Amino acid sequence: MTKLICLDAGHGGRDPGAVGYGLREADVALKLVELVNHYLGSYACVTTLTRNKNTSASYPSGKEGLRKRIAYANNKGADFYLSIHCNAGRGSGFESYVAQPAPTRTKRIQKVINDSVLGFLKGYGVKAHGNPEKVDIQAARGRIAVVRDTKMSAVLLECLFIDNPTENKILKDSQFLDGLAKAITVGVALALGLDKR
Ligand SMILES: [Zn+2]
Repeated sequence: MTKLICLDAGHGGRDPGAVGYGLREADVALKLVELVNHYLGSYACVTTLTRNKNTSASYPSGKEGLRKRIAYANNKGADFYLSIHCNAGRGSGFESYVAQPAPTRTKRIQKVINDSVLGFLKGYGVKAHGNPEKVDIQAARGRIAVVRDTKMSAVLLECLFIDNPTENKILKDSQFLDGLAKAITVGVALALGLDKR
């Protein structure tokens, strides 16, 4: 069976997400999602996007936006849900989240994607933000609704800190975003066992 992958660019519409030095998280997330979507095209899978450059401007923000994303992935019957974000709050590095409790399968997927991404980030001197494989212990309070309420395996990536001056500069580099998208794609393909087309 061909796997259906739902790619979710965080925020959008009136919600810019975190902002740092003129860069909006919503825009970085969308760029990464469009690139990952492109690179997944060379693997045997089907992709669907919660928002794209055409639908982005009118995408609902806040709780309504979260509900829309979750319903979209669940109604499509996606096999895997990947949400892409940037971090903020005076830290550095990369981390990812799965719901609490997460099935072993989901945790394994998270680890494989993390390993691929962290391998790429090493070349830019970017490390994990603490333990990169995080379980959303606050999910019961709705912190990360998209990993909690989607019915399929779901992983949320926090790609660097947009308010960290060094990482902000890197996030503005299109060559970096391209490489990061490739590393995410390779991780997803490996984790889900996707064949090359
Ligand atoms: Zn975010």
